[in-house]
Amino acid sequence: MKCSLGDTFSCGELNRYSNIELNPASGVLNYGQGIFEGLKAYRKRDDRGFLLFRPEENALRMQMGAERMCMPSPTIDQFVHAVKQIVLANKRWVPPQERGSLYIRPLLIGSGPVLGLAPAPEYTFLVYAAPVGTYFKEGLAPINLLVQDEIHRATPGGTGSVKTITNYAPVLKAQMIAKSKGFTDVLYLDSVKKKYLEEASSCNIFIVKDSVISTPITQGTVLSGITRRSIIEIARDYGYQVDERLVSIEDLMDADEVFCTGTAVVVSPVGSITYHGQRFEYKTGAETVSQRLHKSLTSIQMGLVEDMKGWTVQID
Ligand code: PMP
Repeated sequence: MKCSLGDTFSCGELNRYSNIELNPASGVLNYGQGIFEGLKAYRKRDDRGFLLFRPEENALRMQMGAERMCMPSPTIDQFVHAVKQIVLANKRWVPPQERGSLYIRPLLIGSGPVLGLAPAPEYTFLVYAAPVGTYFKEGLAPINLLVQDEIHRATPGGTGSVKTITNYAPVLKAQMIAKSKGFTDVLYLDSVKKKYLEEASSCNIFIVKDSVISTPITQGTVLSGITRRSIIEIARDYGYQVDERLVSIEDLMDADEVFCTGTAVVVSPVGSITYHGQRFEYKTGAETVSQRLHKSLTSIQMGLVEDMKGWTVQID
């Protein structure tokens, strides 16, 4: 789908996956004017179609991000319709034996040419999909994080709470350092006091202490994860106290359990976190809060239980 600045998107077309043409002077290539979303279509057992998880929330988040990045955005209906079309096309084009769950990537970019710094004159909204397995090589096994307090993901007043493409390349260095030392991912701290947890490279973080669950507030520098919000709701339904607050490195050291949430990582238990050379270990495995929440969330996402919350969208 394409549209000009100040206009609305018109109906798009469906194509097989291929390269796209882009103007060398486009806003996205020159000034990083681009935002994206990530969602999954869970393939139901016995080839009984797919389930999307809360796609309207992704659409809304894209709209809010577009506003921050001075871009027009598709309507919620256009967004969800495009995502559904991609899943249906996949069903049509991929033989049943090769069909699995899909990771879906909606992308909104400034595609028109702009040489002086200004919003691009034209925008493209496109959606593509890829087969998906577990995100971390550990699979469902506990992950190990390295706290990073020199490289920051976000700063106050910046775009940390927006899913803009420009948030991601700057964390590659921290991620490479962590991976070269054998860690799964990085845990970022706030850039002012360097003592409050923010999030990992592509997921939100929770700690559990004496059955009370806490997660960093998302104002400004942390992405408001859709999985994060869903897990908070499920945990409260179970009767857990869930606090959205400033979570310090001291809270982390004292926690019983730590886990990460995100579309790709779902609910991943954290086995250890290393901070300034000190390693802290956490409870994982059977009878943990994270395992209970993981089971509850994935049962809804995969259609194994009745979706009492109306979070899933069936695609046949
Ligand atoms: N934080 C960041 C930086 C992310 O990229 C993601 C993935 N979208 C998340 C958190 C988790 O968000 P969600 O649960 O909506 O996937």
